[in-house]
Amino acid sequence: MFKTYFLGKDVQVPALRGVSLTVQRGAFTAIMGPSGSGKSTLMNIIGCLDQPTKGTITIEGIETSRMSRSDLAYVRNKKIGFVFQTFNLLARAHALSNVMLPFVYSDCPKAKRRERAMDVLESVGLADRWSHKPNELSGGQRQRVAIARALVNDPAIILADEPTGNIDSRSGLEIMILLQALNREGMTILLVTHDRFVAEHAERIINLLDGKISRIEEVKERKDAREELKKLPKEEEITQ
Ligand code: ADP
Ligand code: MG
Repeated sequence: MFKTYFLGKDVQVPALRGVSLTVQRGAFTAIMGPSGSGKSTLMNIIGCLDQPTKGTITIEGIETSRMSRSDLAYVRNKKIGFVFQTFNLLARAHALSNVMLPFVYSDCPKAKRRERAMDVLESVGLADRWSHKPNELSGGQRQRVAIARALVNDPAIILADEPTGNIDSRSGLEIMILLQALNREGMTILLVTHDRFVAEHAERIINLLDGKISRIEEVKERKDAREELKKLPKEEEITQ
């Protein structure tokens, strides 16, 4: 797959220069690479926010690389759950409304939607916070609302771009506990991170450099976020 951005007539930015990758259903994959190496471009294409300039991409057997914009939006809504570094929640809407946002094209009957959204909020441990607005929640809790929103349509894959980048390490590990638990239940996860420690919670690390895959590693001693959380000093030890 290739992606070139065209800026005006003469300026071309080659962001992906021949990336070939298969992600198996149920896999937990991390993508690492320096700034500008093409991580977000790759995630945007996999996430049906953009299309390659050359090459093809298929998601569950559906080729998305030549689709119309509206078909692409439909597949995105049905198949992709996004989690962003900055949460991207609607500030004026409470947690439950945020989780219900992806229901635009849903098969879920209207009467069931609220119940389904409450169920996913409960699965991320936030049932009692459903009526809180983002500014009434901690960073870690906001990210858990974002994960609930990503899950509500039962997507084929979760794409998380630096999901722990904006939160403290304890909350970050709680997010990783959640992602690992989802993966154990069969969810396919693709995670972009700058942080080697975070990447080692995945099964496999794809290293990107200048728009190409430079190395694919199997993680030998995979981190278990639950065990890593136990190793962190207790909060009272930090404040003393
Ligand atoms: P990363 O996420 O690894 O930092 P990106 O995928 O955002 O990298 O960017 C890869 C390259 O493509 C960079 O050189 C970047 O400047 C360029 N790029 C990214 N998005 C655009 C865009 N919308 N228009 C033009 N160039 C872009
Ligand atoms: Mg990026």
